[in-house]
Amino acid sequence: MEFRDLKEQYKQNKEAIDRAIAGVIDNTHFISGPQVTELEKQLAEYVGVKHCIACGNGTDALLLALMAWDIKAGDLVFVPDFTFFSSAEVIATLGATPVFVDVDYDTFNMDVDSLKRAIEAVEEKERYRMKAVIVVDLFGQPARLDEIKKIASEYSMFLLEDGAQGFGGELNGKKACSFGDISTTSFFPAKPLGCYGDGGAVFTDNDDWAELVGSFRVHGKGKDKYDNVRIGMNSRLDTLQAAILIEKLKIFKEYEFDRCNEVAAYYTRELSGTVHTPVVLPDMRSSWAQYTVKFENKELRDKAAAVLKENGIPTAIYYAKPMHLQKAFADVPSNAEELQVSTKLCDVVLSLPMHPYLTEETVMKICRMIKEVAEA
Ligand SMILES: *Cc1c(COP(=O)(O)O)cnc(C)c1O
Repeated sequence: MEFRDLKEQYKQNKEAIDRAIAGVIDNTHFISGPQVTELEKQLAEYVGVKHCIACGNGTDALLLALMAWDIKAGDLVFVPDFTFFSSAEVIATLGATPVFVDVDYDTFNMDVDSLKRAIEAVEEKERYRMKAVIVVDLFGQPARLDEIKKIASEYSMFLLEDGAQGFGGELNGKKACSFGDISTTSFFPAKPLGCYGDGGAVFTDNDDWAELVGSFRVHGKGKDKYDNVRIGMNSRLDTLQAAILIEKLKIFKEYEFDRCNEVAAYYTRELSGTVHTPVVLPDMRSSWAQYTVKFENKELRDKAAAVLKENGIPTAIYYAKPMHLQKAFADVPSNAEELQVSTKLCDVVLSLPMHPYLTEETVMKICRMIKEVAEA
């Protein structure tokens, strides 16, 4: 069994994907071909923002956003403690300092009160250093972006929505990746919308930032890439990936997003009362990048993972370590008292196979095994 069944996805869409790939090879316009512009147009329209700038991967997308805002050494950027490393890594890449914020136990997303306390803790002495908040739409559900946006603007901070896992999700009928002053996503193969390699995108309504990101993405280009007006990087989405993504965006909209929601509903029906099933808030829709349950304790979690593995069912622990305990951040000051939920989650979470090609039968089989462990 696959954790995310990309083979089945390809099998069911082989003709269209093969045609898209062959088209690029026929044209040999491998870098910045017309499919890249076409994809950017389609993504901006789907998400509901003015600009989409495709780039090399989701980490670079975050980095490009922070570069457009000139985030640098001395700046403080708030970020959840429970996330993939990239969300916090990019802050340090630019020499700025992350301030870790706890998450909500039910939704795994940034805890608004913890953010307020983190701000209060630095506000009095170092308000001038507070530059941005990075919010992550973890496991596919948008964070409480409406409330966090207000807080960020109250303190004149930029809001960066890391929608690497959130693409397709909704808050109040509005699509994820449209809430940040800049928002980003990743097309890593296992993400809700994945390509056949690395890829990412930046979204914004702001013309100036869109232009800056476009420049940073290609060596700080001015009128072309041989006219260099700032120090940038090389982070383009290649044409092959764009052509594949155009096909995959179609099936994502037509089928995959809705089907993931059906699969999630099967899991929740079978597992509620046995383990803590994921909570999707009434005004949200998740794209189910992960279906993550919580056990009573680490022993039960580890046992369930072992039993599933013995039966050929892959699971994953997202995430095993909170940011503030990562060795790479050993020199970043943090308040462990404030980060208790993140720390506890690492012991009890387990992500189950989740993708649009899972059948109800398979979900029920997985759930029976989990029930045996949890109810023993
Ligand atoms: C995957 C991911 C990223 C990074 O995306 P890449 O394309 O792998 O660089 C960033 N943030 C979050 C929350 C992610 O899950």
